[in-house]
Amino acid sequence: MQAFEVSAPHAFAIGDRPAPNAAPGEVIVDVAFAGICGSDMHIIHGDNAFVQFPRITGHEFAGVIRAVGDGVDPARVGERVCIDPVVNCGRCYPCRIGRPNVCSAMQVIGVHRNGGFAEQVNVPAANAHRLPDGLDLDAAALVEPYSIAANVLSRMDPRPGDRLLVIGAGVIGLTVLQMARALGLEQVIVTDILDERLATARELGASHTINGRSEDLEQAVLAATEGEGIPLIADAACVPAMLPTILRMACPAARIGLLGFSPTPSDLVQLEVIKKELTLVGSRLNNRKFPEVIEHIATGRLDPKALISHRVPLTEMPGAIDLLENHPEQARKVLVKISP
Ligand SMILES: [Zn+2]
Ligand SMILES: [Zn+2]
Repeated sequence: MQAFEVSAPHAFAIGDRPAPNAAPGEVIVDVAFAGICGSDMHIIHGDNAFVQFPRITGHEFAGVIRAVGDGVDPARVGERVCIDPVVNCGRCYPCRIGRPNVCSAMQVIGVHRNGGFAEQVNVPAANAHRLPDGLDLDAAALVEPYSIAANVLSRMDPRPGDRLLVIGAGVIGLTVLQMARALGLEQVIVTDILDERLATARELGASHTINGRSEDLEQAVLAATEGEGIPLIADAACVPAMLPTILRMACPAARIGLLGFSPTPSDLVQLEVIKKELTLVGSRLNNRKFPEVIEHIATGRLDPKALISHRVPLTEMPGAIDLLENHPEQARKVLVKISP
């Protein structure tokens, strides 16, 4: 089968690889569409400490079950599915308290084990979520990025009427915006440094946008909130140096969701955190959010197709990677179309 494989940092190729077999409890999926994500770029650059090479990457994908292993209902062959990449052990402390997405022995599909940039992939049957009729496979490849948004928002405990500030209007920031609107939050401020992205944010329902390069973000946020500050802040830009500004923009009792994976330290001011009794939460991958996201897409509350800017065949993946690296303002989600 054809697959996109990273063999070492900065070394990748599309070539023929052996097709996988289904172990007991697994299914084989014919991949239809797989999305390229910023974290795939980190793997390509050798910036992901978890990955072992060689690796077929890709953790955002959907397709059709072609075969099942022992112990899986054979009636699932032919089922249209999207794949939750979180494979957890079920025994460690976080697993025992219902936090499988921070399992101590987690195996993320597309990171620790082979993923979706291939004609076929083997995944645990429980990770393959059945799609309702009418939910297209291209849209279904975006369930995973929306699950990131659903997870961070659930960690932030939004209340009706809360204002939300989303930092960064890349694909993850835009999924947080759309998910917040789907959950009924009406005042969503989005900031970025690229005007093209802010225009997209307004199209997708942002109530206010701020260009953090041409405006003073902190002043603009205070002006937009009558000096009150913001109760919900989701950081999808993930720039460690911004944390002090984030703390200053937060109102007392605010909840701040952090999505970055940088090892660079941030200056965290105790006084800001304690005086305002702020809650800072990390959010990693997703904790069983696929059914909720699938439901929101099926009922039209989320619009994944608005986020898709490019569809390319597997053979054109290197060009797509080049586009994402060098012209991020020209792309939203790039989908790789794999099987017909
Ligand atoms: Zn991703
Ligand atoms: Zn575990």
